Amino acid sequence: MLSQVPTQDACLSCGACCAYFRVSFYWAEGIPMPENYTEPLTSVYSCMAGTNQKNPRCIALQGTIGEQVSCGMYELRSSSCKEVQIADAQCNKARMAHNMVPFIQIEADEAENDDNFERVS
Ligand code: SF4
Ligand code: SF4
Repeated sequence: MLSQVPTQDACLSCGACCAYFRVSFYWAEGIPMPENYTEPLTSVYSCMAGTNQKNPRCIALQGTIGEQVSCGMYELRSSSCKEVQIADAQCNKARMAHNMVPFIQIEADEAENDDNFERVS
């Protein structure tokens, strides 16, 4: 399958995960968020408005998916939003659903002499 190495700012031209999953979180995380940005889901969970529907799109997502996007409340975004990492399984699932090429996860090489390192005490 065609795939590509992500750049650090890949999210700014993507936004797929903000328009694919139901973005839910413990209700108290929503307290600092604008009131109309969240919806109650259960007695203890809320979700981002716009994400609990067939074709989800978070109310806070600005811009055009796959071109240029931003989160309208980036500093206040939920732990669920922070969990998705560029090139992880959820990211790639969302990207492919939006007809975008998935990313290859690049693992940092282990230092070869790791075992020989000692902390200076
Ligand atoms: S799907 Fe991946 S690349 Fe796209 S915005 Fe989400 S984390 Fe970033
Ligand atoms: S709050 Fe921001 S990061 Fe989270 S789903 Fe919505 S647009 Fe994406």
